[in-house]
Parts: sequence; C-alpha cells; structure tokens
Amino acid sequence: MTMDRGIMSKTGVAVRPGSTTGAIIRPGSTIGILGGGQLGRMIALKAREMGYRIASLDPAADSPCGQVADKEFVDALDNLETARQLAAAADVLTYEFENVSDEMVKILEQEAYLPQGGKVLQQTRHRIREKMALEAAEIPVAPWRPVRSAADLTQAVAELGLPAVLKTATGGYDGKGQYVMRQESDVEQAWKSLGGGAVELVLEAWVSFDKEISVIAARNPNGEVRTFPTAENIHRDNILHMSFVPARIPAEADQAAQELAQKIAAELDVVGLIAVEMFWQEGRILVNELAPRPHNSGHYTMDACVTSQFEQHVRAICNLPLGDTKLLTPVVMVNILGEHVQPVLDKAHLLNGGIKLHLYGKAEAREKRKMGHLNVLAPSVEDALKTIERLEIWSR
Ligand code: AMP
Repeated sequence: MTMDRGIMSKTGVAVRPGSTTGAIIRPGSTIGILGGGQLGRMIALKAREMGYRIASLDPAADSPCGQVADKEFVDALDNLETARQLAAAADVLTYEFENVSDEMVKILEQEAYLPQGGKVLQQTRHRIREKMALEAAEIPVAPWRPVRSAADLTQAVAELGLPAVLKTATGGYDGKGQYVMRQESDVEQAWKSLGGGAVELVLEAWVSFDKEISVIAARNPNGEVRTFPTAENIHRDNILHMSFVPARIPAEADQAAQELAQKIAAELDVVGLIAVEMFWQEGRILVNELAPRPHNSGHYTMDACVTSQFEQHVRAICNLPLGDTKLLTPVVMVNILGEHVQPVLDKAHLLNGGIKLHLYGKAEAREKRKMGHLNVLAPSVEDALKTIERLEIWSR
C-alpha cells in the first residue's frame, strides 16, 4: 500500500517516493509525525490551524502530540510495521527528534515521502559525522578528535590539552553523555563513566565562550532558505533555561551567526529546519551542535515572530513559500520544568497580557522534565527579564 501511494497522494498531488523536489503538500493533506513529544505537538497544533490533518506515532498513549492528532499510533518507534501504517495514513512524513534509526529512515525514505531525507539526520545524530560534515562545508568548529580507544584518548588529550570535554558520539542530550576533564586525573574517570571502548567518543577542546547563541534556519525543497533572529541562550544544569531575543551580541557577530546558519542549511541540503547552536567569543563563532528539527531555543518565535518555527517547518516540508521571520517584539523565553509547574499554576493570575503560557500536556511533572515554557514579550529583553524575576518562580 505504501508503495502504491507514492504515485498519487490522497490529495491528488504527484509525490515521488524518496524525492525532495517539487511536491507541494496542500492543506487538507495529512502530516505523519514520528515521535509524540512537545515538538511534535507544536508542529501539529500549527499544522491543524493551517488546515492539515495529523497522524502521530509514539510509544506512549496520550502523548503530547497524540493528544492533538487526528490519528494516534501507539507503538515502539523502531517497529517498522507500525511506522508503515503511519506512512500509509499520511501524505508526508516528518520526525520530531533525532533518534530514529538509520534503517527505519532508509525504508521510510524509499517507501513513503520523507522530504527531510535521511542524510542530515544521519549526520546530526552522530557527533563525528556532524563535525566532518561541518568541516567539509568549511564551518568553524572547536578542535576535536575521534576517540575509539584508550590510546586515541591519550593522544587526543596530548594534542588538544586540558580542560577538554569528552562526549559520546551518539545519544547525548541536555549535558548527558559528556564529561568535562580539567586535569590528568579526570581522564580515566571520564573514559570509564562514558563507557569508553564500547562506544565511540569525541574529545573537544574547551571553548571559553562569552555567550551561547543559536540560529534556526529553514529550507524548502525548492532551495529557499530563511533564518530566524539569533537567540542568546542561558543554560542551567546543562538544560536550556532562557533564550533572549534580540541576542545581546555585536551586530557583526549576529550577522556572522545568521550567515553560518544559512550556509549550513544550503550546504547540508536541509529540508525543514536546522537549529545551529554556536559559541560566541569576542571575534569568533564556533558551531557546537546541530539539530534537524524545531528547537527549544526557537520557541520564542511562537509569539514574537511573524512566522513561528513550527509553521516554518510545516511550510518547508510541504514545499510552500517560507514565512516572514521578522521579530515583532523583544522576548525572553523561559522553560517550565517539572519543579516549576505548580508555582506557575499557583501564579496563573499574575500571567498578564505579554506573558504567553505554553504547556505540553504531560501528565507527570518530574523534576527537570520539560513541561512547558513562557514567552515574555516586553519593550526590551531587560524588561522581560524583570517580569520573570518578579514572578519568583525561577529564583535560586
Ligand atoms: P552539547 O550537548 O554539545 O550542546 O553541550 C552541552 C553544553 O555543554 C553546551 O551548551 C555548553 O554549555 C557546554 N559545552 C559543550 N561543549 C563545550 C566545549 N567544547 N567547551 C565549552 N563548553 C562546552
């Protein structure tokens, strides 16, 4: 069935399996989303506003995305048969996270319409491949070495010096799967705690950056590229805490960050979104990490830009013209983690006009779990920050 529908989609638009050229997926069609988390939910909510229908696949019933989907498939994400059912129910497929197996993506690419393709996903879910792709595109990254053996690690430390960060090549997020080595005596501990020898690792030179920033770029199959305004990101315990937009960096650095993201989107043949996390240090920018999907640091766009990152993602994968990314107002986005939910609910009466609440519909408010966010709109980021401080939810 999935093979047949490659010739003509349910809405009568010619769609070639495995192709990323030309097909326009019109409103009224169904978007199938692999993964049912908050990113899928926010894609789905925006897509539904635009007239699309949604099918989702997630291991948990009543997932954030499943709650707002027309059709909810509940199964493990590596179950090919269920993924095929999702594909059969959809005119176009997308994913909301990187951990879709290479094998699954390959099959879906062949049998269904996955305009984002598998290549960028394969590159960005593996730090070594990602750095090689960036270097091939002449994008600056921190000095790094692949580490596949204890001898590799010894040599890499000798070459890059300490401090340095040892990271697992795959599967790390929110600071998990990495170890900051400050002195020689940390090296053995880092190797052991990350499972050295059994998994591929990467050693990165320490970057003493001034600020962490990010730019989200969108590209459609026609090759049109647009970027969102640069966000300045503040982390707490390795989890994104706040994004400030406009970023408080010099205009030339902002321009350089925008250009790097545009270049990455074009050189890596991205379709959909690519989030580019960067380190800014007076005089230079290094790219830290990529994510081929909507990104937490782009949630501010939902209330502060003409087009949100979620609408842009839908436009890009459906091959519609990309939306205007203009910033309408300064904004600070602050994440609501599990421990912040009750205080936010208790202070709901204080969330006035310029404070936009987004909650993801997760039942269990575990500590450090991303449950929602606030977009605080104000005449300046400093004013927005003061509003957040007055709420006394995030003070330590
Ligand atoms: P990552 O998972 O690679 O985004 O790393 C998580 C966080 O660790 C980053 O947001 C930085 O704050 C910090 N970090 C990662 N790599 C480096 C590095 N090479 N030098 C300094 N800080 C880093």
